[in-house]
Amino acid sequence: MATKLYIDGDWIDGDSEPFDSYDPAEGRVFEQVSQASSQQVDEAVAAARAAFGSSAWRDLLPVQRAALLFRLADLIDQHAEELAALETRDQGQPLEISRTVSVRGAAEHFRYYAGWVTKIEGSTSPVSFPDTLHYTRKEPIGVNALITPWNFPLMILAWKLAPALATGNTVVIKPSEVTSLSSVRLVELAAQAGFPAGVVNLVTGGGETGALLSAHRDVDHLSYTGSTAVGKLITKASAESNLKRLTLELGGKAPSIIAADADIDAAVAGNLAGGLLNSGQVCAAYTRFYVDKRREQEFVEKLARGVSTMVLGAGLDPSSQLGPLVSEKHLNHVQRLVEVGRAEGAELVTGGRVADREGYFFQPTVFAGVQDSMTVVHEEIFGPVLSVLSYDGPDELESLIARANDTEYGLAATVWTKDIATAQRLANGIRAGAVFVNMPPIPDMAAPWGGYKASGWGREMGPQAIDAYTETKAVWLNYGY
Ligand code: NAD
Repeated sequence: MATKLYIDGDWIDGDSEPFDSYDPAEGRVFEQVSQASSQQVDEAVAAARAAFGSSAWRDLLPVQRAALLFRLADLIDQHAEELAALETRDQGQPLEISRTVSVRGAAEHFRYYAGWVTKIEGSTSPVSFPDTLHYTRKEPIGVNALITPWNFPLMILAWKLAPALATGNTVVIKPSEVTSLSSVRLVELAAQAGFPAGVVNLVTGGGETGALLSAHRDVDHLSYTGSTAVGKLITKASAESNLKRLTLELGGKAPSIIAADADIDAAVAGNLAGGLLNSGQVCAAYTRFYVDKRREQEFVEKLARGVSTMVLGAGLDPSSQLGPLVSEKHLNHVQRLVEVGRAEGAELVTGGRVADREGYFFQPTVFAGVQDSMTVVHEEIFGPVLSVLSYDGPDELESLIARANDTEYGLAATVWTKDIATAQRLANGIRAGAVFVNMPPIPDMAAPWGGYKASGWGREMGPQAIDAYTETKAVWLNYGY
């Protein structure tokens, strides 16, 4: 039996043909997921609209809304093991990543934004009018569509759902068709937490379901995480419908700069963590490594040694360090780009092939001698592929910044050095939403997350997400009237 849709407080079957969800470690179907029809998408949006105006939601006191979010966080904790196993089975990530990054991360997000509910403040402005009080209110935007990708389905939904609800919005969730299951379970827990009917709605389905939401005239704000190509389609659909507000978290191609003075062992460990987390299926993953020529050979040798000792296996096996890729389609995409890398002359140091076992496993791969013009430096591979380039030393800092910035993306970057001036110059010069110095790209709910250039619009997390889900209203009060 397929999972269900959640519309206006009811669990219902999708009217369109259900679709399969695969266990990527086995390459076999293990669940069926309902597909919403176009009419059901309309019903979900209508339910969210009605709930937005209902006293059951609008008139809740901030402390009461906060209590609902705290309750949801507690329910996530109570079901942590079950959620982690489900995420691993559906997405492939090692169980420890599911437990910490995905499930604990989701609960922490709900707690963090529960804390914000009672602290969403406006301001007063010294306008130059006599007898006039001017103040601002932060008001919820209205109906929000939340469209998520397959790489961290639970955590990325929490990035969006927690601030949306904290600010008093209503939502229609559309998870990736590749990994819908943890979102279905999270919505069950939200219902159990006691959010009024229509506040949280869920429509599962593929790109077409997402497209219906992007073009919907009664969606006020759409928060999307996924590929840049689909981000552009959503932007167009918004422009051609109602100019709904957009928050876009898109692709990345993060550079990692390793200076001559870096602790190479620490840099290798940090870059392995930053490059291979979730088998490289991370938007901020470190993918292209610019190493000072004097340390290049040592870095490549140690990186390759680290990569080749990593244990590939099903996420549910506690000894696995690298899980499968999410789908056969994605496995083929990674394989194709690795073949392009070889054909363009990158030196294959280790890996480079689909692993010889069931499921969608790709061997972690290191390319050395990579040149700036190569496809592996520019295209988002979103897999376990690390490309090493080099640079000539401190005198090259300006041109190194230009090389790091020679990409359509600007999500994340990292610098490995003990020299504070080098770190600061590179951090200032690189055009990316986050620069990590001597650490892997791990987001935190207290810090803003988002991209420059084609990596997106707006910011999630931190206080910035409160802005993303609110409109600022200016109230002018002439008390001399
Ligand atoms: P995707 O673009 O294929 O799909 C993302 C979502 O968009 C899915 O729910 C999908 O069904 C939906 N969709 C597809 N076509 C649509 C359309 N025409 N209109 C509306 N929605 C549509 O992305 P993906 O392959 O699931 O995820 C991988 C991508 O996500 C990578 O590019 C990665 O860099 C990016 N990503 C970015 C961040 C970030 O924070 N910037 C985080 C994670 C992933």
